[in-house]
Amino acid sequence: MGIVEILKGRLKVPGEVEIGYIEGDGIGAEVIPQAIRVVDRAVELTYEDKSIEWVELKAGKKALKERGSLLPEETIERIAELKVALKGPLETPVGSGHRSLNVALRKTLDLYANVRPVQYYGAPTPFEYADKVDFIIFRENTEDVYSGIEWKAWSEGAGKVREFLRREFGIEVREDSGIGVKPISKFATQRLMRKALQWAVEKGRKRVTVMHKGNIMKFTEGAFREWAYEVAEREFSEFVSIGERKPGKILVDDRIADNMFQQIIIRPWEYDVIVTPNLNGDYISDAAAALVGGVGMAAGLNVGDTVALAEPVHGTAPDIAGKRIANPSAAILSGALLLEYIGWSKGAELIRKALRETISAGKVTADLSKGGKALSTEEFTAEVIKAMEVLG
Ligand code: NAP
Repeated sequence: MGIVEILKGRLKVPGEVEIGYIEGDGIGAEVIPQAIRVVDRAVELTYEDKSIEWVELKAGKKALKERGSLLPEETIERIAELKVALKGPLETPVGSGHRSLNVALRKTLDLYANVRPVQYYGAPTPFEYADKVDFIIFRENTEDVYSGIEWKAWSEGAGKVREFLRREFGIEVREDSGIGVKPISKFATQRLMRKALQWAVEKGRKRVTVMHKGNIMKFTEGAFREWAYEVAEREFSEFVSIGERKPGKILVDDRIADNMFQQIIIRPWEYDVIVTPNLNGDYISDAAAALVGGVGMAAGLNVGDTVALAEPVHGTAPDIAGKRIANPSAAILSGALLLEYIGWSKGAELIRKALRETISAGKVTADLSKGGKALSTEEFTAEVIKAMEVLG
């Protein structure tokens, strides 16, 4: 038994590897164990000499109860040590209470790219072009308005910021305003774009589109666009063509955020890799997931230079938590992303094929059943495993 190591920038994965997992809050505790069942069986069916030893790490309500902290230091340390983990959603109260544990984890471990593939698995959907959806969103994960630099209306901090803006720049901000800051750096933009372009080159993708609102926010989102192009031109010139299609080259272009939302609906087949700041990335991910059946289908991988944390796009879904009806597909597909990341791609492929077969055969959870017969979380997982056994 060993752990993933990084040697000269490349992953070295032992045949029997320890991988971390966090169940998470709400439906996390229902879907993550099911994803683990599927991943284990997929590995068993595709490799004779490989297996995963899952190491439970605590975060969220479970950690608060058992360790007295929502995000114990040892959890972060252990993820950094194991380098790869699967994570369920963690609750973040709106407006008051603690800051997002997810944001804290991504920032502390410097998981700067949130990679979200959106693909169709045969779920019933009113969207005519669902089977043409196949893109990957690269969402910046560490800055933008998510940085948590904000002050409550009427607070001392907001007062000082207002006063500073008035004194230094002659800018008036209403007294009853909450104030937030939106930092977007060249460094964070370029390392994200670099990762997206590397991915596009390795996976043979045809187009990388920068999604931004640079027409309005010129020095943050506008700069994001400029800095992203700069990386494409400077570091990937032999692979890309900027702004126009050329045979054998990856087209690199950009779209303004609002237009991007309609583009993925009216001509989804044209888009491939979408690179975008944090908040845009959050919004477009759910919208894109809706095209292929909803957030119950959307997987994600948070990656930095040394650590990767796979997690479903959805949250804790408090309305259905505890009912054992949640769709585990997003968690299962996050498990597949994790396998692909460590190079066990045959396992990932088997999972995806089995999921496609199961859902296309109409075996689905309540979110996809449109009032028809729905399977429970466990029943659905059992069907996916059965399909893997037939295919594997
Ligand atoms: P959400 O948990 O994603 O749920 C939104 C709705 O989507 C649910 O009410 C449910 O809707 C449906 N849904 C989500 N996942 C599903 C699944 N696997 N199977 C079936 N249906 C599913 O979003 P939210 O209600 O905005 O957020 C709830 C909490 O989660 C908040 O505290 C938020 O901060 C947190 N959150 C955490 C993460 C994370 O840890 N990465 C991500 C997002 C949100 P219906 O039953 O109404 O169809």
